[in-house]
Amino acid sequence: MGEGNKDKRRRKKRGGAKRRMTAEQTLALKSVNEWVNLAKHSSSDEVNQIDDDFLPEMMCRATFSEKVVFELHSHSICSDGFLTPSALVEKAHQNGVKVLALTDHDTVSGIPEALEAAYRFGIKIIPGVEISSVFATRDDSESEEPVHILAYYSSCGPARFEEFDQFLRNIREGRYVRAKSMLSKLNKLKKPIKWENVIRIAGSGVAPGRLHVARALLEAGHVEDLKQAFDRYLYDGGPAYSKGSEPSAEEAVQMVCKTGGIAVLAHPWALKNPNPVVKSLKAAGLHGIEVYRSDGKLAVYSDLADAYGLLKLGGSDYHGRGGRAESDLGSVGLPVLAAHDFLKIARPIWCDAIKNNLVLYLEDSSELNLKHITRFATKSITTSNSEKDIINSCLRSWLSREEMQHADFQATISKLPDIAIS
Ligand SMILES: [Zn+2]
Ligand SMILES: [Zn+2]
Repeated sequence: MGEGNKDKRRRKKRGGAKRRMTAEQTLALKSVNEWVNLAKHSSSDEVNQIDDDFLPEMMCRATFSEKVVFELHSHSICSDGFLTPSALVEKAHQNGVKVLALTDHDTVSGIPEALEAAYRFGIKIIPGVEISSVFATRDDSESEEPVHILAYYSSCGPARFEEFDQFLRNIREGRYVRAKSMLSKLNKLKKPIKWENVIRIAGSGVAPGRLHVARALLEAGHVEDLKQAFDRYLYDGGPAYSKGSEPSAEEAVQMVCKTGGIAVLAHPWALKNPNPVVKSLKAAGLHGIEVYRSDGKLAVYSDLADAYGLLKLGGSDYHGRGGRAESDLGSVGLPVLAAHDFLKIARPIWCDAIKNNLVLYLEDSSELNLKHITRFATKSITTSNSEKDIINSCLRSWLSREEMQHADFQATISKLPDIAIS
């Protein structure tokens, strides 16, 4: 009773208008915090044995945060963002983000670098990707529109990695063909730009997109700013616009589901008519849609999510362009209940993906199959002694005790000798 009163007073002093959390929110916060701190718990035993002067924050004792900031949509220079994955993670840390999904367009190449940086800053990374696709209404194949599908994976990354990787590679290669076609149209419009410049602007190994073509147009002095490049030439159906060879949005969602990911429709507000898109994607296995932005929850999409029983998520779609128009990294206040609902759906699916990769390794303990498990593990884990130690460390930092003790998972783990659940 006395405690409660003291609590109330403290709260009043701090915020005044801050509303008391409901029991449901408190439980959700506890559960989300436990998940965020998994890796810290698992390493706490080792921490005690080492001189801890220079240990990264990630290794420090688990902390309970009153607010866990999720940032579920961000880009780095590995696609069309402006920051390196490390710089992005550093900025996320400065902005108070605790869980960051790196969701570059059609590539996961930035994830390993993001993970190493996140390890230093004590941030949790959700390996993600934003898949370019198109949606065509059945009665009118001419009215295709671009649809972006966000995919979120377990710390182990996608299952069936080769298939997934090939799927993304096809999209990226299609982008080269598309960029070349845009250049040839610009040439005909007497606004020539050089292919080398587009490639240089995109950066090494990055598939060129419309933004890179726009920047080349600006550099060549054909337009005054990027907006003009899009308004005059590159808008959907514009004189220099070219269609890519992207998969259908349904195929993208099915690929995410098949590879152990959570599929989420990005920025539905960019769609002409989101209703048929959501309906069709739900049938393909869609798990959620973006509903939250830095300016709050958008009621119309929230209703749409309710109508189809989908998760309500969102992120800033941060690119690091700068300027006032851009929402800052971590600026979307995803409510703790939304984060909790997300993890409730995601964790069993991720658990399954991890299990599938373990089974592959059990069947054939090859280096390649070990790589399927450790693809996105930090160096601190993969430099440890034996393969068994490595797998053990991975599992302990990815899964809760309950998840590991689940009968289904136990059957798999018990076949891996010397893997201890502690
Ligand atoms: Zn997008
Ligand atoms: Zn995006």
